[in-house]
Amino acid sequence: MSTLLCTVRSCHLPLVREDRRVVCEREHSFDIARSGYINLLQPQDRHSANPGDSAAAVAARRRFFDRGFDKPIVDGIGGMLSLSAGDEILDAGCGEGRHLAAVVDRFGCAGSGVDISLPAIEAAAKRHRGQEWIVANADRFIPFADASFAAVLSITARMNAGEFRRVLRDGGSLLVVIPAPDDLIELREAILGEGLQRDRSDRTIATFASLFTVERRQRLRAVVHLDHAAIEDALTSSYRGLRRSERSRLDSIGDADVTLSRDALLFRLL
Ligand SMILES: [Zn+2]
Repeated sequence: MSTLLCTVRSCHLPLVREDRRVVCEREHSFDIARSGYINLLQPQDRHSANPGDSAAAVAARRRFFDRGFDKPIVDGIGGMLSLSAGDEILDAGCGEGRHLAAVVDRFGCAGSGVDISLPAIEAAAKRHRGQEWIVANADRFIPFADASFAAVLSITARMNAGEFRRVLRDGGSLLVVIPAPDDLIELREAILGEGLQRDRSDRTIATFASLFTVERRQRLRAVVHLDHAAIEDALTSSYRGLRRSERSRLDSIGDADVTLSRDALLFRLL
């Protein structure tokens, strides 16, 4: 298993696993939760009392996934990767863990997931026992030793090119997945009054250009028929709350065909 690093400010020593805790040489220690996850989030790494996705957003995303609507996207993400059993991979900003679990299942590799949201990591750890789940602020510091991973996934999450580079092994790959311009276009038009969004692929490639070269890019897209509950879950997953006028437009929609669309960018280290 990859070596975890202490997140106490400017410590960053390896953490040694004991029965119920992990501990560094300076005696900074972190409990291992009953469900197996480890909370390494430091006070200075929080930008609010409850950073990251709320419990409601986590639950909505999981309901949406469990009904199978975004299975074509999840499968498409796995299809971008080529990994071997025994490879160790990191999902930075893993949410409630469905993407990491799917990739681990597909290739038989070992997975570690990091997210700043405690409710997301709790949900991930309860369902996916075989992987390692860590609460931490990966925007600042990914709490793993250098060259730990064969692949890093960043799926509709915040990106930290320097840290992705540091934790990747030579020859490793980075898969970045971002919302495509037509993601949820029908709902954004009908409820939020928005049109097509900007294509973020080129800007994202530019963000990584000093460290990574893009090897493959692909749009992953599915049009699915959603009932009212699924429409509500799709919006709750993606947006932090609706205004009253938006809420009333949502309430008036029974069911609809909705586009789910992602741009997947596979990078290699320069
Ligand atoms: Zn320490």
